[in-house]
Amino acid sequence: MTSALNLAVEQAHARLSTITSRHDNPAFGTAFGPEGIVLLHMIATRHPEIAAFSLDTLLLPQATQDLWTELESLLQIPVRRVTPEPEALVRLERAQGRYGMYDSVESRRACCDIRKVQPLEWALAGHDAWITGVRRSHSAERAETAFEEFDQQRKLAKYNPLADWDDALVNAYLAQHALPVNRLHAKGYASIGCEPCTRALKPGEHPRAGRWWWEIAVSKECGLHGR
Ligand code: SF4
Repeated sequence: MTSALNLAVEQAHARLSTITSRHDNPAFGTAFGPEGIVLLHMIATRHPEIAAFSLDTLLLPQATQDLWTELESLLQIPVRRVTPEPEALVRLERAQGRYGMYDSVESRRACCDIRKVQPLEWALAGHDAWITGVRRSHSAERAETAFEEFDQQRKLAKYNPLADWDDALVNAYLAQHALPVNRLHAKGYASIGCEPCTRALKPGEHPRAGRWWWEIAVSKECGLHGR
């Protein structure tokens, strides 16, 4: 694993260097998943010109908030906090309540639009490239993810430097650098998003099964990376 990890790490750094050579102001968005922590560490140590941000939906688990604070302190890297528009939240909660996401796919998407998709636009404003931690192994919808893409909707270059990394590489990197992860993983959570929309996995379930678990046979995407 060591040589495979070393090779993958140098390739990922080369990809990040390619991005910074092409773009004046790239931004890395993370929700502090394991691969996001890998990239945050790489950026903090060798690519400090890349700005980092995270979307605070105001419904994140306390464990995610704690990890955010811990990583900023440990890595000495600021992660810009982008929050939803207050007036839009008031309108949303008047229309469907705070927990309207359980009522229908449409109401869940309305919540994701206001808490995530709109704030993403603000987070990316003024940046000329978007870097993500999306990996092919996350889900069927992400199986074709390439290192380099173009986000047609946002008219923006999009890069996924760890697209081809598997869980073993991610975990080996985290262990090598003794990096912290979300404490909810130890309680059976895999992919972790907002508190009302994330649960621990049952034995044998796909890692994304804990997201929007009450929805059957619809895409497990919130609109940030397609639907
Ligand atoms: S994941 Fe759930 S709580 Fe978070 S924005 Fe989407 S619907 Fe709302």
